[in-house]
Amino acid sequence: MKEILQDLTHAELAALMEEMGEKKYRADQLYRGLMQGKRVSQVPGLPAALREKLLERYEDEPVRIREVFTSADGTEKYLFELADGNLVEGVLMRYKYGNTQCVSTQVGCRMNCAFCASGLNGLVRNLTAGEILGQVLAVNARAGGTPEKRAVTNIVLMGSGEPLDNYDNTVRFLRAVSAQGGICISPRNISLSTCGIVPKMYDLAEEGLPVNLTVSLHAATDEERIRIMPVAKAYKIEEILKACDYYFEKTGRRYIFEYSLIAGENTGREQAEKLISLLSGRPCHVNLIRLNEVKERDLRGISEKEAYRFLGLLERGGLSATLRRQIGADIGGACGQLRAGYLQNNTQN
Ligand code: SAH
Repeated sequence: MKEILQDLTHAELAALMEEMGEKKYRADQLYRGLMQGKRVSQVPGLPAALREKLLERYEDEPVRIREVFTSADGTEKYLFELADGNLVEGVLMRYKYGNTQCVSTQVGCRMNCAFCASGLNGLVRNLTAGEILGQVLAVNARAGGTPEKRAVTNIVLMGSGEPLDNYDNTVRFLRAVSAQGGICISPRNISLSTCGIVPKMYDLAEEGLPVNLTVSLHAATDEERIRIMPVAKAYKIEEILKACDYYFEKTGRRYIFEYSLIAGENTGREQAEKLISLLSGRPCHVNLIRLNEVKERDLRGISEKEAYRFLGLLERGGLSATLRRQIGADIGGACGQLRAGYLQNNTQN
């Protein structure tokens, strides 16, 4: 694989142009073109010789939209192909207030949560910052957005991969996507979801990037959490909560817990009570999600009615909680489902 030009900041592009003996304004042209989601070969106004030199060293299109699936509810699921042929997926959810894109940070994942399709084949590799950014640039361009009038207004790092297991590239991406003059999506409109890699949560609090921190909790006790999330052996819920409080102290951002409702695992009255005593008085919100059943995984979801019952228990216990609308289920909306299905079909054929 060649290098990726979208990995570079505007300042680094300027240094590159200088190194190549080019005029300074070439960096502006290049940066602008790339932020519009153009291929290197399509950036307007570049001299042919420069274009050629760039293409010798850099990928023309590091993230290519390979397929788009549109759900009946308007949600779009994207399958992206990277320059080395690896596949990652993403989603664009359309809301009244704007469009939220879900991006991937790794090919596969090594966390192996019992309900998730992303970890089915382990971790293949980390994405570079430019490959994470490339997903946003490609979707924004396809949806008719420009850097001035973005079609993608919000981002969630909830695609395949564990962002804090690819920390440096993720932080570099967050700076790139929020940079002035670029696509410029404010950190306040970005949510980073983690399974709870505690030391990296502390590091993130120090970055001066006030993104919304979301933690996949899915259980109210360590014993129950370990059953569905192997990473829970390394970090106790207690330590996760401390790291969340530190994050709040540093950024002033309320944190969010994701809680996927899994039949027979975490949806009883007892679990609701434990969750209430665990989270009462904390500056947090609980997002309940009905499990998107993954056929390779042996776990089942609960009905909408049961989910509302669990939500009611939390609310009566004084927690701020919502049941997330289930969207895109008809197009394999959950993490890793699309790629997993794709890999399977392609090996069967
Ligand atoms: N690795 C990060 C981000 C990726 S997943 C994390 O663990 O937070 C985004 C959210 O979707 C997480 O809360 C994850 O636990 C949840 N999730 C994954 N597969 C799911 C499924 N099949 N049904 C419901 N939620 C799922």
